[in-house]
Amino acid sequence: MNLILVEEADFVAEARVRLTDRRLVHVRKVHRASVGDELRVGLVDGAIGRGRVLRLDREQLELEVSFSEAPPPALDITLVVALPRPPSMRKVLQQATAMGVKRFVFLHCARTEKSYWTASALEPDAIRRDLLLGLEQARDTALPSVVFARRFAAFLADSWGSMARGRLALVAHPDAAAPCPRDAAGPAILVIGPEGGFIPKEVEQLERAGARRVTLGPRILRVETATVALLARLG
Ligand code: SAM
Repeated sequence: MNLILVEEADFVAEARVRLTDRRLVHVRKVHRASVGDELRVGLVDGAIGRGRVLRLDREQLELEVSFSEAPPPALDITLVVALPRPPSMRKVLQQATAMGVKRFVFLHCARTEKSYWTASALEPDAIRRDLLLGLEQARDTALPSVVFARRFAAFLADSWGSMARGRLALVAHPDAAAPCPRDAAGPAILVIGPEGGFIPKEVEQLERAGARRVTLGPRILRVETATVALLARLG
């Protein structure tokens, strides 16, 4: 936790927050802070700044907070990921959020396991927790949006056009001939396939919709590893 993220519900007075949850535990056990210490804080969807410890015990942490700096710039890449098994999805959310992604789409593909759609990791509170973990890691405050597209064809027909307009569109595929570009230097939309891979028809449909097939090389990477490697290349 490189930033203590606070939100409106944490305020008990102007410029004063009271924290009683895992943030309290973290500040006591990891930061080992004392009264008077200054910690880095951020306001969810707002600025970052400093928090001076006013009170710290087992029950609560009170901080006097001020916010003055902008959060780091976003990575303008829309990340479309075939819904992977829940632990991978959580890693994708946390790590891509830490890398600056602000728009996620989780997509159903032919080889997506249907049971993944009922996983508790997809519930809004669970997703929010993972996004906050990514933001805290990267000292960011801007919560990404997450949408789910449960029908591949409908996603391409109804949403892809507006999402991909004006963006470099890429579909990551180990067998592609072209390497994933480095420093895309502009907005992009990146599609990552399911654990079992895309079926050929899906890649063809994405290509017809304007996406270029790109590879990271012959090594088959896990979804979460491929996500980080691709974002690092493009960003
Ligand atoms: N057997 C599957 C295949 O050949 O497509 C492996 C799928 S891989 C576990 C899951 C997804 O990660 C792939 O669909 C692709 O989007 C991405 N990926 C993994 N390794 C990659 C690589 N070397 N180059 C490009 N994308 C890769």
